[in-house]
Amino acid sequence: MTSPLADLPALVAEVEGPVSLPGSDDYENDCRTYNLMSPLQPLIAVGATGPRDVAAAVRFAAIHDLPVAVRGGGHCVARPADEALLIDLGRMSHVHIDPARRTARIEGAATWDDVIRAAAGHGLAPVSGSSPTVGAIGYLLGGGQSPVLGRSHGYASDHVTHLEVVLADGTFRMVTRDRHPDLFFALRGGKGNFGVVCAVETNLVPLSSFYGGGLYFPGEALREVLGAWSRWVTDLPQEMSSSIAIQRLPADPALPPVLQGKFVTHVRFSSLGETEAAEKILAPLRAAAPIVLDTLQEMPYMLAGTIHADPPQAIPYFDRSTGLSRITAETVDALVAVLGPDSQSPLVHAEIRALGGKLDQAPAAADAVSTRGLPFQLFAFGVGGPEQASMLQAALDDLIVAVGPWRHDRSLPNFLSPDEAQTGQQVREVYGHELYHELAAVKARHDPANRFRVNHNVRPATDTLQR
Ligand SMILES: Cc1cc2nc3c(=O)[nH]c(=O)nc-3n(C[C@H](O)[C@H](O)[C@H](O)COP(=O)(O)OP(=O)(O)OC[C@H]3O[C@@H](n4cnc5c(N)ncnc54)[C@H](O)[C@@H]3O)c2cc1C
Repeated sequence: MTSPLADLPALVAEVEGPVSLPGSDDYENDCRTYNLMSPLQPLIAVGATGPRDVAAAVRFAAIHDLPVAVRGGGHCVARPADEALLIDLGRMSHVHIDPARRTARIEGAATWDDVIRAAAGHGLAPVSGSSPTVGAIGYLLGGGQSPVLGRSHGYASDHVTHLEVVLADGTFRMVTRDRHPDLFFALRGGKGNFGVVCAVETNLVPLSSFYGGGLYFPGEALREVLGAWSRWVTDLPQEMSSSIAIQRLPADPALPPVLQGKFVTHVRFSSLGETEAAEKILAPLRAAAPIVLDTLQEMPYMLAGTIHADPPQAIPYFDRSTGLSRITAETVDALVAVLGPDSQSPLVHAEIRALGGKLDQAPAAADAVSTRGLPFQLFAFGVGGPEQASMLQAALDDLIVAVGPWRHDRSLPNFLSPDEAQTGQQVREVYGHELYHELAAVKARHDPANRFRVNHNVRPATDTLQR
């Protein structure tokens, strides 16, 4: 077999987009990642301009027995892609809205911001996540839990009507509920394991504005606020959503002055119902402790990303996540001990999202979302480079150990960290035995060589190579 690098001119001749090697500007651009601690360093990068480029790149990888890595929005790189061929979808980011059918056709690497902006002019909104910079398809392949619309409209993947996919053998499939039902099942929750998704069509929700924002309390009031929030949130009506974040904020001039460099307990809230009803529900929580900043207001859906205010720029960080089955007074004690004012925790962010509502209802067509019935999701990170790695990973381990008694056996796959991708064990755990085996069977049918393994990998059922 000719080496892939010697054969590169054949690939260059076949694709329209750039084919690049380490050291070039195209390579740097096509390998950008949101987490600077999970770089993409493939052997070859292909900047695909459409499904034909994608198919040619996948066939080239198959001929040379290279793994294929896919870059959408670059927010969830699980492995460095060493020795792989990377397909960057950044040049495939068009969004088309059909206002009559209330659908969006979203190309490979379009971000939620691209979709939200395109839909907003028609009074429509997608079931998007907390951060507008996340890749829409990367998100909904993992189910996609929307902090504003999830509890009222379910997982983002529940709204998918078709997926346009290049499979491991380079063939193209239009995947719908009736055509290729096994792929329709696996792609809605099973992440990037089954092919390169060039485009997706999804239903949109009629929504222009909603009531939402945050209540920032001093970090010193963590015990009172977390205790009050955990009791309050269990009775929240389905049209309302909330999460709580324990944050050590940077002294960033972009933040409101009262938050710069501060340790805060940040309650996030949104409601699709009447403002008055929301205000009434919020009253006891507002009384939990003195408020540093209250940003709750009517807002256009275009501003939904301001509620969580996730960092828009790339940062170096280490993260960890787990599902939680309940939050008791003892859970509050445990969290105060590891994250509270006396903890000296180096973690800058730990959040708990309350799930439930429509997120617990299965859609009409079977899917691979494993978290229906999961009440809470915990996610935490610490910012730092290689010198801080062991210290931050130890703090994350301490947090996960501290909440051990309340851990749920399911957790959102979208929140799996690069560390959690390495062994494969955690990927098995988030899906559970039965669902993982169903996914492994679909994988064996469509990607028996495990070509798509530079991800949170589901191994083909017949894979004995354990690569
Ligand atoms: C700041 C931030 C906020 C977030 N908020 C939420 C949230 O509110 N709810 C939630 O559910 N998740 C959330 N996530 C998690 C996010 O949904 C996942 O990280 C998602 O996989 C990111 O997709 P991406 O395309 O940006 O990343 P990438 O790193 O490009 O892709 C992630 C994985 O998906 C695969 N992939 C991406 N696009 C395609 C495609 N078109 N075809 C095939 N495979 C593909 C990649 O190969 C990779 O394995 C958040 C993440 C971050 C960093």
